[in-house]
Amino acid sequence: LEDQFRQAQKMEAFGQLAGGVAHDFNNLLTVINGYSELALAQLPSANPMREDIAAVRDAGERAAGLTSQLLSFSRRARLEPQVLDPNAVVGDTGKMLRRLIGENISLTTTLDPAVHRVRVDPGQMGQILINLAVNARDAMPDGGQLTIETQNVELDGEYARVHHGTTGGHHVMIAVTDTGTGMPPDVKARIFEPFFTTKGVGKGTGLGLATVYGIVKQSGGHVEVYSEVGVGTSFKVYLPAVGDVSEDTNAAPAEVRGGTE
Ligand code: ADP
Repeated sequence: LEDQFRQAQKMEAFGQLAGGVAHDFNNLLTVINGYSELALAQLPSANPMREDIAAVRDAGERAAGLTSQLLSFSRRARLEPQVLDPNAVVGDTGKMLRRLIGENISLTTTLDPAVHRVRVDPGQMGQILINLAVNARDAMPDGGQLTIETQNVELDGEYARVHHGTTGGHHVMIAVTDTGTGMPPDVKARIFEPFFTTKGVGKGTGLGLATVYGIVKQSGGHVEVYSEVGVGTSFKVYLPAVGDVSEDTNAAPAEVRGGTE
């Protein structure tokens, strides 16, 4: 877990570095590509300099492609999906999460003891919780309540297909809810974009939720976001349940409350 924490910090640092470099490079490349495009448009078609300038533009475009590749590489880890119990991941990361959120924020976990298993890389599953918890913490500068919840849900096939591009059926929902600032609709609309951040230069990378989104999508799931300004935000991650879960779907979802501080 210490390792996982360090790894998360390393990824965060690397993301910050890559994000910063890419940002600067993209500004420069915008100038290079913009002016070479402009020069090409202004030169008569017979002008022999066209070839040279076209070479500059092509190189500029390749460079822009490379920067975006570097960025996606910085987010791509070697994935080793495993069948795992989501509650165990919450339990394993709980201590680290408490340290991460500080003393002003209390953490409550509401775990369904009969929750199904999911297939996901354990480190990445932890990463999802960390990224969501860090955002929750940042949204509650004056303290508040962080809740992590697991629950079995049955998704309507047609609805899942139309709205989430996934299949229906047995899913596990992992919700991370805060009592923080909330988000206005224009912010909420952009949060999954890489490098979108409202935290200011040097503070946010804008990669946290893009990473969450990538992991969840790769695992065949989807994310829902509920947010109200001044009230708080809830991220609900849905992952397909693994294996034959038919026999326990009707089990009463006895809820275990624990970990309240
Ligand atoms: P970063 O945390 O580096 O800004 P993220 O991709 O994790 O990048 O988040 C993008 C933006 O989404 C944040 O800057 C913030 O504006 C918004 N956001 C994310 N989570 C929350 C939350 N729990 N409450 C309020 N705003 C949030």
